[in-house]
Amino acid sequence: MNCNVAVMLMHDYLDDELSRDEQAELKLHIDSCVACRTRLEQLERTEALTGTMMDKRRPVMTAEQSSALTARIMDSVPFKRRRRAGFASWVRSHPAISVAAVFVLVMFSSFLAMWQQDSELTVSGSDLAQVVISGDTVTVPEGAHVKGDLVVENGKANVYGEVDGDVTVISGSLYQASTAHISGEVKQIDQALDWFWYKVSHSISSLAY
Ligand SMILES: [Zn+2]
Repeated sequence: MNCNVAVMLMHDYLDDELSRDEQAELKLHIDSCVACRTRLEQLERTEALTGTMMDKRRPVMTAEQSSALTARIMDSVPFKRRRRAGFASWVRSHPAISVAAVFVLVMFSSFLAMWQQDSELTVSGSDLAQVVISGDTVTVPEGAHVKGDLVVENGKANVYGEVDGDVTVISGSLYQASTAHISGEVKQIDQALDWFWYKVSHSISSLAY
């Protein structure tokens, strides 16, 4: 076997795609060729560090892989690890939870930052011509007929007329007069967590189209 063939077989070997015979041939070459032996060791190391998470054939990380990943995440976090030995060792003994927790924490804090920045009145909908916006108040006047959904963020929504769709009020208030008629759902989202799920489901549904 020459080295080119050996390198090809190495990649298949790392993907678990070698037959027993091919494995034996590869081993024979590796035993006699220092260059290929070094190369295989490097490939195995790279594979252990990067390949495993992305490999769809192995969707679940083994404990070792996930603790290696945790260790890398911990290494890249710029706090003083030595003074936090207790925390670090807890992380090492609960690798899967820690990876999940880091992920959720990063996601949640970025959403929370958006939540805090987001304090301007925002009105969206498909028929805003029917809507009167003044200050932080959005009014659907009596006799007006809004065709489609209406979303009001960080403001008051006063509905006197008709809305042919959903009305969603995010961190604001909603007043429905006796003359109001909303054919769809009325949703009020006040809590950061509700808002978080609203944004998540919204971005997922917008990806679907
Ligand atoms: Zn070789």
